[in-house]
Amino acid sequence: MVINMAANASEAELQHVIERVKECGFQPHVTRGTERAIVAAVGSGGSRSALEALKAAPGVEDVVPIAHPFKLVSRQTRGERSCVNVGEVCIGGAEAVVIAGPCSVESRDQILSTAKAVRAAGATMLRGGAYKPRTSPYDFQGLGLEALQLLRDAREETGLPIVTEVMSTEDIPLISEYADMLQVGARNMQNFALLRQLARAEKPILLKRGPSANVKEWLLAAEYLLAGGNSNVVLCERGIKTFETEMRNTLDLAAVALVRELSHLPVIVDPSHGTGKRELIAPASRAALAIGADGLIIEVHPCPERALSDGAQSLNLDEFAKMMGSLSAPIRRVASAMAVAVA
Ligand code: PEP
Ligand code: MN
Repeated sequence: MVINMAANASEAELQHVIERVKECGFQPHVTRGTERAIVAAVGSGGSRSALEALKAAPGVEDVVPIAHPFKLVSRQTRGERSCVNVGEVCIGGAEAVVIAGPCSVESRDQILSTAKAVRAAGATMLRGGAYKPRTSPYDFQGLGLEALQLLRDAREETGLPIVTEVMSTEDIPLISEYADMLQVGARNMQNFALLRQLARAEKPILLKRGPSANVKEWLLAAEYLLAGGNSNVVLCERGIKTFETEMRNTLDLAAVALVRELSHLPVIVDPSHGTGKRELIAPASRAALAIGADGLIIEVHPCPERALSDGAQSLNLDEFAKMMGSLSAPIRRVASAMAVAVA
């Protein structure tokens, strides 16, 4: 942090700030200019919030952070990229991972037929909501325990590891008995009580970005998990709220590239919630992989028009297989166009 003293600050006010910086656990480095002084607080062991409070000290004009507030998720802390293992699947490794399945688990037939079809098309993990965060209390809320049992059966039949959402701290033990990875939904990204408990869970976490969260808030939510002892965290960009009304959300793909600069954690993209439109899933998926995403999570339903949630953004089984076949195409196309231009 850098503390900018006001132009008219007195020597006593400057000395007071220097003392406070030391008390906060940092070393003060003072630079005296012709008009004003600045005090750089150096070190990592002290309290940032105590330094920030110096904005209220006499003679201080501003306190400006120069380092990111997150530590454990930062690439500065860990140079190489992290890989998160979910069963046999490695998220963040050389290959992009595709997680697919229905928004909600609705029946044995629905989840088993979807699991088999997405596996045949190349997906390596199965998704399916058991406890659903719905905007309206009158909408389908999920089958709960029955859905967990059906997901377990689908894993037994197909070998695909399961990811499902946990909405509340009290559900963590039960869901952990069935799921291989626990999803923190977008609406819960800053549910700090939930994050603290999940930090102690022995399961990898899929942390969705909140619809109104900036990248710093998202990474700080991940920091809660790592600081509490769980370093198996995968980030998921799922679109944010903007003024755009033609799509359900605005898929912020640049944030994926930014997060890969700032953090060592793997990051995947959810084009289903990110766009809300089934016809945009394939192009958005290709763009996500091209910008560096470590994988995708996609909603798939055997009959989207009958889905109990998110049918409009769900691919049917054939559409999913077709989309999977198209995934590496844009990178090849760009490469060959460049080759022609050079020739
Ligand atoms: C979901 O994955 O079905 C879901 C509800 O996602 P989000 O939390 O991103 O809205
Ligand atoms: Mn959904």
